[in-house]
Parts: sequence; structure tokens; C-alpha cells
Amino acid sequence: MRGLLFRWRHWLLMAVCLGALGTYLAAQNQRDRNRIEAREVERLNIQSQMIEDNLRRLLTAINNSLQSIIDEQPNWRAGAVSQDEAIRHLKTLRVGMLSVKTFQVLDPQGRVMLSNREELIGRDFHLREYYQTARRSLNPKTLHVSAPFQSALDGYVISLARPLLDAQGIFIGVVAATVDPLDLQIMLNSMHHVSDMRSTLLHGDGTAFVVEPPTPGVVGQHLLTPDSLFAQHYRPDMPAAQFTGISSVTGDERLYVMRTIQPVGLFMDKPLVIAISRHRDSLFAQWKNDVRNQFALYLAVVLFSSVALFYYRRQLERTRVSNQRLRLATEASGVGIWEYDLRSGRYYWDDAMFDLFGLRRESVNDLNNDWRALLLPGELERMTEATRATIHRGQVFDLTFRVRRKDGSIRFMRNRAALHSDEQGTPSRLIGATEDVTLRDMQEADLRVAAAVFDCQEAIVVTDANLQILRVNRAFTDLFGYTASEIVGRSPRLLRSRRHDQAYFDAMWEDIGREGFWQGEYWSRRKNAEEFPVWLNVSVVRDQQGAISHYVATHTDITLRKAAEDEIKQLAFHDALTQLPNRRLLEDRLQRAVIQAKRDKRRLALLFIDLDKFKPVNDEYGHQVGDDLLQAVAQRLQACVRESDTVARTGGDEFVILLTVVEVPGDALAVAEKVRRSLVEPFELPRGQTVGISSSIGIAIYPEHGRDVAELSLHADAAMYRAKSAGRDRFELYQQAGAAPGGSGS
Ligand code: GH3
Ligand code: MG
Repeated sequence: MRGLLFRWRHWLLMAVCLGALGTYLAAQNQRDRNRIEAREVERLNIQSQMIEDNLRRLLTAINNSLQSIIDEQPNWRAGAVSQDEAIRHLKTLRVGMLSVKTFQVLDPQGRVMLSNREELIGRDFHLREYYQTARRSLNPKTLHVSAPFQSALDGYVISLARPLLDAQGIFIGVVAATVDPLDLQIMLNSMHHVSDMRSTLLHGDGTAFVVEPPTPGVVGQHLLTPDSLFAQHYRPDMPAAQFTGISSVTGDERLYVMRTIQPVGLFMDKPLVIAISRHRDSLFAQWKNDVRNQFALYLAVVLFSSVALFYYRRQLERTRVSNQRLRLATEASGVGIWEYDLRSGRYYWDDAMFDLFGLRRESVNDLNNDWRALLLPGELERMTEATRATIHRGQVFDLTFRVRRKDGSIRFMRNRAALHSDEQGTPSRLIGATEDVTLRDMQEADLRVAAAVFDCQEAIVVTDANLQILRVNRAFTDLFGYTASEIVGRSPRLLRSRRHDQAYFDAMWEDIGREGFWQGEYWSRRKNAEEFPVWLNVSVVRDQQGAISHYVATHTDITLRKAAEDEIKQLAFHDALTQLPNRRLLEDRLQRAVIQAKRDKRRLALLFIDLDKFKPVNDEYGHQVGDDLLQAVAQRLQACVRESDTVARTGGDEFVILLTVVEVPGDALAVAEKVRRSLVEPFELPRGQTVGISSSIGIAIYPEHGRDVAELSLHADAAMYRAKSAGRDRFELYQQAGAAPGGSGS
């Protein structure tokens, strides 16, 4: 809630201000309106009073005239005055009083006896209201005011009448004056100062008598009907009333002042009522116009303020955001901002600067220059020189110096600054940014090292986590024959030979997954499909979150080493002269063969062969020829057996044949015979000699003659010696002591 208030505080403040202004203006306008109305009511009151004054004077004058006629009566009756003279008297009275149309005297029966207008004499007016009321009342002082009526000669008139009584108080007639509305109309009109004013003069019973401005059909109408405005406000006992209402005549809303006219001393039986009104809309037209203008102005102020506030807030928000961005940027980059006042020598720092130098704002001196003590020897001089060069020669200030921070660490600080001058053009301030570049320097060094390593003799392939090749080095392109553009973006599968099956790779990936590392001998394939051995080293590179980001594979070409190794293996397990397996290899194979035969419950046979009288060949032809003969024997022996059998040379002129497939002992004997025969064939040796020899062969069969290597060898050897001693050029099957002899001979 408070946050919301704070966010919208500008708008709230503006709303409050504008609301207050609006309220003030509204109150002001209301007051103006009330003042206008009060002033108008006052003016209407004065006017109505003036009308009342006029009417009072008129009524008094008429009453006085009627009194003078009454006073003359006895003379007229006594005949002291002629009728003509009496009429002249009435005419004289009439001349002095323009508002009166007729002065007349009626006899007790209501006939006109005397009138300033002779044409009326003799007319019978006994039905007239004024006659009737005067006759009924018989009060000599009462002035009877008749309701307006249509007169015999003129339009609507009012009659003022008084009864005539003789000395005994007997009713002897009525004296009356009829009042002409024209004069009153003029009087009312003279009171009107604006066109929307209306005045109505009514008889006390409510009949309209004079209406200004003239309105057809109103005069003679009864306006004091119970529901009319006049009736609501009319109190005979209250001289004046003011009110507002809809006019029944004009149908518009009007402000009224109503006054009852019944002057004291006149003894009027009915009052007259004057009502003056003004059209309210016209009365307030100017005011309304002012209010409208003011409201328009107010709206303009609201609109303008809103727009201004909107832009102000937007600007404010932008400034806030950009400040925040700047702060974030400097915070994130670790760049400190500083200012050096050249005159005072004082440094102004932002928070980042204090962080960079490991200092606290509270504990530095006034000039904030104690950081200089952290500079390594010679750095202050460099900085002073750089500052001087910037000020005097306009050089760019870009200087990296070293500091030793309080925590003992040495940091490289890069400073870039710009010179600011005052209005006179005198350099006044140096404003700059400082950045700790220690880490960056170290990282750059690391990168240089990495680049150098990458450029080594070993073929390096870098892939992403999806095993897409990203980079290869020079050694790779040399070794594999692919250019970088050919191989980047492709899969390292391209480099696999056909020598490894899927199980091999599955195991490799399992290792990499578990250890993050694999290395071993591996057969690769060049672009030209040639397969070659490498020492492969695969490493996983992980990102900061620990997820695999790269794989790096290093290939070392081991073709040569492999060849050397093969040679060593050959030397170790083969006889150098005949290339046949030597005794070690034979023993190894024999061992396996015995295990296999035991498992399969099958036979195998071991044939020990010693050449007969070999020594004499050496003696006769020389050692070299002896060697040639041994090689030739090796070939013949190999020709006598199958691929799966082994022919080994175990000593000077001793050979061994291991037969792995022997169904029955006879099979072994057959091979022995084949060997014997093959070796007695004369040898045509490469140096031209033809040599004839023979062989003695001893046979031992698994499982009959032995269940392990040692036993079998011993017995085959024993059998061979038996063949020797039995005369040579023959084979012997091993026999236990005392058993019947078995063998062969030529
Ligand atoms: P015997 O019929 O009893 O087997 O007599 P032998 O002459 O064959 O003699 P013996 O088997 O006892 O000795 C083998 C001779 O083979 C001994 C040695 O002079 C000769 N010899 C051994 N190794 C080599 C060799 O690598 N090259 C040559 N040329 N002769 C060898
Ligand atoms: Mg021999």
C-alpha cells in the first residue's frame, strides 16, 4: 500500500492540488452566483417598492378625488349645483388624473347619475361587482377595489368605489372611479431595466390586471389558483416575498419578488399585488459564461499538468533507469570512477574505487590521496609524468600502474582519464576510470599458453558436447589429411577405423562418463582410408555449472612405436632363424590348448622331433649350410600341419608340433609318419648342396599320456629318445614302463 502511494505520489499530489483548486473555484463561483442572486433580489425589491410608492400615491389621489365627490354630494342633491356643473367637476377631476378613465356616481339602484363621460349617464351598472360590494358593506370609509372586468367602453379596468350615505346613514348610491391600465403599464415599463424582466399587477383575488411586457390572454385571468406559484408564496399578512419557480405564463424559470399593496389609511377592502420577475438563465448568463470559461481554463490546466507530469515522470524514470544501468554497468565491470581536482589536489572517488584499492571511505584523509602510499616504487613518478603530459601536451592519459593492497596482493590498475577545463579554458579537473586488469592479464597469459599448447605436435580435435568438431590443430591436418574446413562441423566418427566394434566404443564412453577421461591405443583412419594406430587421449571439459561443454581428443601417432613393439614381440616369442614360435610361445599355446581340450573333452597331441645326425651336416658343409637346412626343415614341417596347429623350434635341431584336433591317437601317428617321410626327402639347399637327413619323433597324447603341459612334454621327450635309441628315422608313441612297444620304422 505504501509502495503504491509512493509510486503514484506525483499523481496524487497533483490530484490533491487540482482538486483543491477546483473546489476553491467552485466555491468562488457559487458565492458569485449567490451574490448575483442576492443583488438581483435586492434590486427587484427596490423596484417593487417604487411601484408600491407610485400605486400608493395614485390610490390615495383617487381616494381623495372620490372623497371630494362624496363631500360635494349634499350640494348636488340639494340642487344647489346643476348636473352640468357636477359633470364639469368630474371632468376637471379626471383631467388631473390620467390614470382614471371615469369618475361616476350611481343612484341607489345602480344607474349612472353623473359621469365625466356623458354617454354612460343612465346606464345600469347594478350588476357590477363594485356596486354590489359597496352597497353591501355600507362602510363609508372603505375603498372597494373591484376585480378587473371588461368595462362598457374600454378594455379591462378596475373600479375603486365607495358607498354614498345620507346624513342618517341611508344608502343613497355609489361613487366610483375606473382605473385605466395603460398608465400603469407605462409605469411598470419604466421600471424595467433589462428585457427579460416581467411585472404583473394583480388584484387581491388573483386576477391579472396589468402585465408588462404585454402578453395576450393574461389580463383578466385568475393567476392565484391553489397550485400556482403566486398562491404558494402569497400571504396577505406578509408585505413581500421572494421565490424562484417556473412561470405559468412564459414557462421558464424565473426569480420573483412579490409585494402586497394595501396602504394604511386607505381602507382598501382588497389589496393589489405586484409581482416582478427575472428570467434566471438570463440573470446568470454572464455568470454561466464566466464559469464555462473558467472551467475550460481549469481543464486546460489539468490537461497541461497531466501531460507535463507524464513527461516529467517519464524523464525521471529514464534518468533512474539509465542511472541504474550505469551503476550496474560500473558495478558489473568493476570499473571505478574518479575525479582529480588539479587546484586542490583532492581526489573524489565512487564506491567502486574504494573496493578496488581495498580502502574505506571513512578512514581516508581530507585530500583522499593516501592510496598513493600503496603504489609500488617508481609508479608515483610515472603517474605524475603522465598527468603532466596530459595537461601540458594534451596526451591521452592511459596508464597501468601497480599497487600493493593492504591485504598484500599486488594488482595492476589501468587508468584512463580525460582533462576538463573551466570556462576560461584553464585545465581544472581530470576525470577518469580505473579498472583492475590483473586477472585479465593473467587470463590473457593463460590464453597465450593454451594457444601455444594447441599448436603442439599432437593432433588435437575439440568438439562440443554433441560431438560436433569445433577446432583441429595443424598437427591434426598433417596427420589425418583433412583440412580444418573439411572436418569442422562434422563427427569424429569419420576418424574411426573398422578395427574396433561397438562394444569397444561403449566401454570407452562408459569410462569417459565415469572418469571424465580415457586413454589407450586406438586405430584411426586417415582421409585416404588408411588405418593407423594412435595413442588416443580423450578429456571432458566442463563449464562452471559442471555440465559437459567440450571434449578434447589428442592423437599421438604410434605407427613407428607399434612396429618396434611388434618386432620385439616377434623376437621374444619366435626363433630368429626359422621365424617359428619359440619355446616360450609354444608353452603358452600348449597351456591354452590343454585348458581348451580339458573343457571340450577332446584330445591333443604333442610331437617332439629331433633331426638325426645333424651335427655331421654342420661339420661337413659348415654352420651356414646347417642353418639353411634348419630353415628348410621348418618349411616342410609347416607344410605337414594345419593352420590351427603350431610348429615351434625349441632347440638346435629340435622341433615340436602341437596338434589341437586329434580324434583318435591314430591321427597323431599319421601326422608323425607324414613328417618323417617329408624329412627324409633330400633337401636342395639354396647354396647348391643336396643334403639327406632323417628324424626321430616322440608322441604324447592328451589325456592318455599326460594331463598337463609338463607331463605331456616329459613323455613326448621320452618317446623321442626311445625313437633315437630304437635306430632313428622313426616315431614312437609314449609308453608307460612295461607296456608293449608301439612305433614306426622306415
Ligand atoms: P643325433 O642323431 O643323436 O641327434 O646326433 P646329432 O648329430 O643330430 O647331434 P645332436 O642332436 O646331439 O646335436 C645337435 C647339433 O646341432 C649340435 C650342434 O652342433 C648343432 N647345432 C645346434 N644348433 C645349431 C644351429 O643353430 N645351427 C647349426 N648349423 N647347427 C646347430
Ligand atoms: Mg639330432
